[in-house]
Amino acid sequence: MGEKVKKIVKTIRVDLDKCNGCRGCEIACSAYHATPKYSAMNPSRSRIRVVMDQFNDEYVPIRATDYAKAGCDGRRVYTIKGKKYSECSFCGTICPTREMFFDPDSGLPLQCDLCADEKEPLCVQACPQGCLTFEELEVEEEEKVEVKMDEMELGMKALLDKFGVQKIADTFNRLSQKG
Ligand code: SF4
Ligand code: SF4
Ligand code: SF4
Repeated sequence: MGEKVKKIVKTIRVDLDKCNGCRGCEIACSAYHATPKYSAMNPSRSRIRVVMDQFNDEYVPIRATDYAKAGCDGRRVYTIKGKKYSECSFCGTICPTREMFFDPDSGLPLQCDLCADEKEPLCVQACPQGCLTFEELEVEEEEKVEVKMDEMELGMKALLDKFGVQKIADTFNRLSQKG
């Protein structure tokens, strides 16, 4: 077992009962991250998106957190007040199975950086309902032992990510037959 270390984790707490779906957080985030800053507002470039169900008066702000190269096999469905949502609806992963959290022009992933240069994130400042709260939590976790990969392993990993096991195995087979 590794040693326990104390760590500060920054996060944004969301109080769903207060959210009214105004999308001010999307506007603020996209404006703050525009180049130059505040030169444009475009919610499709926001790192926080609000899942809207106006009929049921349900609004869920989701922040783009981790990046995944491939989607999971999410097949769960949530039903809230009679409306069905897929697992993806409330997922903050930047995932290739959907367009959300990718820049519509460049296709680059849009990850929440918690507005690192600001004392308080812009979406938190912009929310008129006080639905978002910036928090710094002290957590205790096991120290991670970093396993360093050598160049060959890194190269293999990149090839595997790009082409998959089968294609690489076929190529090795073909090359070994030629030799
Ligand atoms: S968006 Fe989230 S839940 Fe949906 S496939 Fe991607 S990682 Fe899984
Ligand atoms: S914390 Fe900053 S980057 Fe993250 S969603 Fe809010 S405004 Fe966007
Ligand atoms: S700004 Fe606040 S109330 Fe408006 S959609 Fe975003 S989280 Fe909800």
